Amino acid sequence: MSDIIKLLSDSVANQIAAGEVIQRPASVIKELVENSLDAGATDIQVVVKDAGKTLIQIIDNGCGMSSIDARMSFERHATSKISRAEDLFAIRTMGFRGEALASIAAIASVEMKTRRDEDKLGTHICIAGSDITSQEQEACSVGTNFLVKNLFYNVPARRKFLKSDRAENKHILTELHRVVLTNPEISFTFISDNNQVFQLKPENLRQRIINIFGKALNSSLINVSTDTSIVKINGFIAKPERSKKSTSEQFFFVNNRYMYHPYFRKSIAMAYNKLIPEGEHPSFFIYFTIDPAHIDINIHPTKTEIKFEDEQAIFQIVNAAVKESLGKFNIVPSLEFEENITRDAHLTSKTSFKSPSITINPDYNPFDQKGTQNFKRDTMPGNWESFYTPSQTKTPDDFFLPKESIPEQKELLDETAFKKEEKGIFFQLKNKYILTSGKSGLIVINQKRAHERILFEKFLKLLETRKGVTQKSLFPVIYEPAPSERAVLLEVISELNNIGFEIVMLGKDKFEIKGVPGDLTDIDPHKTIDQMVYVLGEISGSAEMVLHEKIALSLAKTAAFKVGKIMCEQEMQDLFYRLMSCSNHNHTIEGKKILEIISVDEIEKKLN
Ligand code: ADP
Ligand code: MG
Repeated sequence: MSDIIKLLSDSVANQIAAGEVIQRPASVIKELVENSLDAGATDIQVVVKDAGKTLIQIIDNGCGMSSIDARMSFERHATSKISRAEDLFAIRTMGFRGEALASIAAIASVEMKTRRDEDKLGTHICIAGSDITSQEQEACSVGTNFLVKNLFYNVPARRKFLKSDRAENKHILTELHRVVLTNPEISFTFISDNNQVFQLKPENLRQRIINIFGKALNSSLINVSTDTSIVKINGFIAKPERSKKSTSEQFFFVNNRYMYHPYFRKSIAMAYNKLIPEGEHPSFFIYFTIDPAHIDINIHPTKTEIKFEDEQAIFQIVNAAVKESLGKFNIVPSLEFEENITRDAHLTSKTSFKSPSITINPDYNPFDQKGTQNFKRDTMPGNWESFYTPSQTKTPDDFFLPKESIPEQKELLDETAFKKEEKGIFFQLKNKYILTSGKSGLIVINQKRAHERILFEKFLKLLETRKGVTQKSLFPVIYEPAPSERAVLLEVISELNNIGFEIVMLGKDKFEIKGVPGDLTDIDPHKTIDQMVYVLGEISGSAEMVLHEKIALSLAKTAAFKVGKIMCEQEMQDLFYRLMSCSNHNHTIEGKKILEIISVDEIEKKLN
C-alpha cells in the first residue's frame, strides 16, 4: 500500500490556522488595532465598507517597520514581541504570537504601506493568499497603513458563515469599545460606509466612557478604587438606575486587556444585590492591575478568558470595592450596608468602609407636589418600588390596564367556556404563576408571558390604527443613544411617534423625548426607549415578523412586568380576563406557552 500521509501546502495550512485567529471582520480589526497600539501609535483610524466584508483599513502613526521587517511580519510566528517561553508570563504587549498578519494574509488580499521615522522611503507590500505579489519602496507617512480587501475570498465556507452587515458591525463596535476604553489617551476614528461613527480625541477615562456610551451616563458614574497587595482596582460603576437588559456596558480589563470573567461579574452583581430589577445588569468599567506573573493569558488566541491565581480573594475584593462605592454615594440603604460591613470587613485590609450617616436627597425638588417622601420612587425606575414597599405601589403595568376597558366578564366566559360559578378565586404561585379554576380543571398561567401577550396585542393595534394619544411631558428628557442604538431608533422613530411617543431628533446623536403614550405616563421614558431599542436590536434579525410586530414585541417586552411581581387578587383577575380577550391567549408571539390546564382527571389520577 502506498503512503497516505501528505504535507499540507503552506496556503492550506495557513488557512486552517487563520480560522483560529480570524473568524470575522471584527477579529481582523482587533488584531490590526492591537498591532498599532503595540507600535506606539497615538492616532488610529479604522475604516470599513460593508461591515468589513469588502474593505478594512487601519491607519496608524506608530513606529512603522523596516523593509525587511515588513516582509518578515507576514511569516507565521514572526514577532518582535517575545523570544523566550518565559516571556509568555510577563506579557505587556497586546500581541505576542506572531500569527495575526500571517493569518490575515492567508484569507484576504492585503496591502501594507509602512515607514519608520528614520527611513526616507517606506515599503509597499501586496499579498494575496499568503503570496507576496509585489514589494516596492514608496514615499509614505511614518507609521503603518493596512488595507484588507475581500475577506475570506478564498474560503467561501467562512464567507458564507458571516452574518448580516448589522450583526458584523455590532461585533466590530464591541471590539473597538474594548480597545478605546483601555486607551483614552489615544485618538481613534471609526468610519463605516463613509459615515463617521466616532471620533475620539485624547481624554480622561470618564470622558471616554461618556463619549462612547452617551452623555446620560455622566451623572450616573461612580468611582471605584481599591489597592490591595494582590490586585489594584480602578474604574467606574454606574448607579443602579442605569441597569440594562443587556450586558453591553459591562467591562473588565486586566493590565489594560479586555477580559471576560463571569465569576467576577457575579461578584459585582452580588454587590448590587436587590438594587436592580431581576433580569437587568449593572453597568461597570473595572480595570485590574496585577503582576503578570499571577495571571495566565495564554489560554487561547481568540478567547478573552484570563486565569487568576487568586480568584476567590479577588472576587471578594471586587465585591467589597463595589459595595463601598455604592455605599459612599448612599445608594445602598444604610441598614443593609452596615450588615455587609461586618460580614466583609475582614476580606481586605486596605479596603476601608465608611457607613453613610446623613441621607441627602440630591433630587429633592421643593416644587414637586408629590413631596419628599416618595423621592426614591420618583427617581428610581421599575422594581425600585417593590424593593421598598412590595405590593402597594403602582408599577408601570398598572397604567397599561385601565380598569374601564376591562371586557365584560360574561362575553369572555362564553368565549372561553369557563363556568361563571367556577370563576372563583385567583392564587399566585411563587409570584410567577396565577392559578384559577376552569371548566375542566386547574388553569395555570405564566403571568409575565400573559402580560407580554396583552401588551403586544395592544401595541400592535395602536400601530395599525396609528391612534396613539400623546401625553406631553412637562420635563422632556434628552436621550443620547450609543451609535449602534441610534441606527435602530432611527428606523422606528416615526412608528413610535404614531402610537403616542413624541421623539424629536435634536442633533446627530441627540433625541428629545417630549411625550409618551397616554397610558404610559408613569414610566421612565428614557429607560423604556433605551431598553426597547435594545430588545428591537436583538430581534431585528427575525425574518418572520413585520416591522409593526417587532416594535410591538419590543415595547411589550420592555414594559411587561418583571418576573416575581406580587399581585393582588384584583390584578390577577384583570390580567386573566385581558388575556382571555387576546386573539391568542395560549402562546406568546415567540411561541412559548402562556397557559396550561391541568385536567380534573389528571388531578384525580395523581391523588389516587
Ligand atoms: P504579534 O503582534 O503577535 O507580534 P503579528 O502577526 O500581529 O504578531 O505582527 C507581527 C509583527 O509585525 C509584530 O511583532 C510587529 O513587529 C510587526 N507589526 C505588525 N503591525 C505593525 C504596526 N502597525 N506597526 C509596526 N509594526 C507592526
Ligand atoms: Mg499582533
